[in-house]
Amino acid sequence: MESDIGGGTLYVVATPIGNLEDITLRALRVLREVDLIAAEDTRRTRKLLNHFAIKTSCISYYREKEAQRAEEILARLREGRAVALVSDAGTPGIADPGALLVNRARAAGFAVVPIPGPSALAALLSVAGQTAAAHLFLGFLPARAGERRKLLQALAAEPRPLVFYESPHRLLKSLADCLALLGNRPAVLARELTKVHEEILAADLADLLALFKERAAIKGEFVLLLAGRDGGAELAQSRPGGQDFAELATWYRDRAGLSLKDAARQIALELELPRAQVYRRLLDLW
Ligand code: SAM
Repeated sequence: MESDIGGGTLYVVATPIGNLEDITLRALRVLREVDLIAAEDTRRTRKLLNHFAIKTSCISYYREKEAQRAEEILARLREGRAVALVSDAGTPGIADPGALLVNRARAAGFAVVPIPGPSALAALLSVAGQTAAAHLFLGFLPARAGERRKLLQALAAEPRPLVFYESPHRLLKSLADCLALLGNRPAVLARELTKVHEEILAADLADLLALFKERAAIKGEFVLLLAGRDGGAELAQSRPGGQDFAELATWYRDRAGLSLKDAARQIALELELPRAQVYRRLLDLW
């Protein structure tokens, strides 16, 4: 096909989330024909390019240097060059840098062209079997426990399925917080999508938590979908709404299946009491 690569154009190119065969023909052509590739991690992108024998030069474009790099890329666009933006994996701009450059390029009058392809979000939704017309994608949950729980608390009544990305070292904490604040509900957890060790688990949140607690090591990349409030969350509906200590403790122990430690943390947060004090009171009940 004759090249239709335009000078002064920013191409936002999706790359594989694991399996290199998922790159599109169009992405390959664009990456080959642009003047420059702006990559989140040039070493990682270089591996992808080497695999496909693409020799285009790369510069780094990552979150910490986004503003500075954006200006450098705009300068290339002003020279009439074509630039491709890629992230480490998947679609730039989805829980990845890209928005700032896209906004500045468009504001400066340059064409911004999407080259769609893989994304962990789309891959999970495609196999989640959800009939809901809409979902709420949260990116990564906040790393700080307090912020994470506050957000989950605010989402307890959300009727749409919730989808978020999670890292292996925070998976257990996030699953436990989801269970505590949203109640048990159907979920689909995908690990290592498109890779050799791909796993797609459809189970209740409590079962998923129990399953991963059993694992000696938690590795890989995760994306999780949780049913919305009406998607079978009967436990969430029967959760005590009041401030009664014993009632809350019994519910977290018997219905949500939390450990003493997790329940203490949760009740301390909800009743705004010191965790050590809650823990001591719970010892009698557990
Ligand atoms: N822009 C990417 C996309 O379109 O999917 C997401 C980038 S975000 C920084 C990386 C996170 O996406 C990972 O921590 C993980 O939660 C999720 N992810 C990426 N690849 C994945 C895969 N192969 N399987 C499951 N989750 C994945």
